[in-house]
Amino acid sequence: MMINCLRLKQNRLILLAVLVLFICVGVGGFRQEQIQALNAPEKLLPQPQEIASTAWQHASFPVEEFQSYTSPFGYRLSPVTGEKQFHNGLDLAAPLGSYVRNWWTGKVVKVSDDTACGTSVIVESGGWRHAYCHLEGHVEKAANGRYMIDRSGGIQIWQGQDIPVGMRIGRVGMTGRTTGPHLHWTLKFNGNYVDPALVLKEMFKKQAMLMPDKLS
Ligand SMILES: [Zn+2]
Repeated sequence: MMINCLRLKQNRLILLAVLVLFICVGVGGFRQEQIQALNAPEKLLPQPQEIASTAWQHASFPVEEFQSYTSPFGYRLSPVTGEKQFHNGLDLAAPLGSYVRNWWTGKVVKVSDDTACGTSVIVESGGWRHAYCHLEGHVEKAANGRYMIDRSGGIQIWQGQDIPVGMRIGRVGMTGRTTGPHLHWTLKFNGNYVDPALVLKEMFKKQAMLMPDKLS
């Protein structure tokens, strides 16, 4: 009797989870190609059958002490020139010196400090490329390679280094072309820019799925 009762509860839970999945997929507002573009880096996934339910919840939000989204991805009027321009990332405001975290396990493919992006780190994770701009610190060269150094933040990131998800890879700064402290975060999938807000929505949705009670 007790076991039957438990089973019934378990079945109800599974039914609820499937229902939640169905509702989320149904009203998510994503076009099919967007969902495909948002497939998590394949080689980093635990099990293929877990892709739909758990992949995105392993990703890390890219900044600590987050305050607000100050500029969305897409076309906008430049705050500097007043002309229409393409904003290829998402701006996340945070106090100067807030730590930036690696969104997904990968390899640092570039560190730089001589463009409008300022001191920056670019990480590759499967088909994904994620870039972090306007960081504190600068780039230095050594006999065995290049690295980004932020001494007061205790950060040193080598070009070519493997880094885990959630690792602190820099701090929010004002380097490059920027009017205030924020992280300019860009994402590319197979060479094409993707709106980071869509990725964050997927991440939050997957986390919510694991906690069906919190959805209502
Ligand atoms: Zn930006």
